[in-house]
Amino acid sequence: MRVFKLTTPKRGFMDVTGQVKEALSDSGFKDGLCAVFVPHTTAAVTINESADPDVRDDILLGLEKAFPDRKEFRHAEGNSHAHLKASAVGSSVTIMVENGSLVLGVWQGVFFCEFDGPRERKFMVKFV
Ligand code: ZN
Repeated sequence: MRVFKLTTPKRGFMDVTGQVKEALSDSGFKDGLCAVFVPHTTAAVTINESADPDVRDDILLGLEKAFPDRKEFRHAEGNSHAHLKASAVGSSVTIMVENGSLVLGVWQGVFFCEFDGPRERKFMVKFV
């Protein structure tokens, strides 16, 4: 298992496709599955468009609208909206590996999603 660390902004999507490809290249793994896992409760990982950075900003805006902070929330840390976004987006993605390459669509990238930064974060990559 490979562990990557990153320092995140308050909110945002960070393109980690390069790190996942680096982990694959270093492993020598050729065929199977790549799991990317985020071990946090207010951050997530997703696959979406990497060509136009406006897309990730629009997804974040949509999530802010769908899961706003609410005065009814009881969690004392005050970041329930971030927990909701993290659960909705998910803590892992699986990518097929074929002939030593990630099977991603031409527009796709892998994104670490921060909903309650800035923080020191990490994510794991494993090939099976
Ligand atoms: Zn919390």
